[in-house]
Amino acid sequence: MIILLLGPQGSGKGTQGELLSKELGIPLLSTGALLREEIATGSDLGKEMSALMDAGNLVSPDLATRIISERLKKTDALNGALVDGYPRDGRQLEMMFEHFTPSVAIVLDIDDDTAVDRLGGRWVCPDGHIWNINSNQPKKNGLCDNDNKKLFQRADDTENAILQRLAVYHKETAPLITELARRGVKVVRVDASGTIEEIQDKIKSLIK
Ligand code: AMP
Repeated sequence: MIILLLGPQGSGKGTQGELLSKELGIPLLSTGALLREEIATGSDLGKEMSALMDAGNLVSPDLATRIISERLKKTDALNGALVDGYPRDGRQLEMMFEHFTPSVAIVLDIDDDTAVDRLGGRWVCPDGHIWNINSNQPKKNGLCDNDNKKLFQRADDTENAILQRLAVYHKETAPLITELARRGVKVVRVDASGTIEEIQDKIKSLIK
């Protein structure tokens, strides 16, 4: 079963996705993380993408589709996966249905002010674990509880890039929710303004 995680940046897709991945025993696949892995290799493609991503703009639909559909073929995803950050626009939605059909889309709803506050306080580790200095602090300042690696702020968690990413979400991604429902994907909407535990409980009860 493929479950999509949708919602504005800062709505908690990565955090909730990690918890849900453990609960359901299926991997969490994030197109953003897969693209950042490509950038880390130092390839020409990575360099090209990095400028777009740092400014908060989308990479091409072909690339996003290729990267996620290839990843879904790996053995750990054969029984299902949680997909975070795809599809992001109408073209990707069309391409997605050519490669795979999700069963459920979980939409995490928050307002833009909360999103900006959350992203401003977000610190991540190189392996993608997410912390927040306002709501989910690591035990040791600046280090990840899971693997003790040094935390950093993402290059696209600056105010300008955050506002651009939210604008792209509202214009390109939010309209996909109605289209997914129209095409038979079960859409589950969750108010994502509470604590991590409250939101996780809501998600679990809604997808049972
Ligand atoms: P995220 O980690 O989901 O916040 O994504 C970080 C950045 O990666 C986005 O702002 C885009 O530049 C890029 N990105 C992630 N997923 C996609 C996608 N499906 N299509 C195009 N660009 C994407």
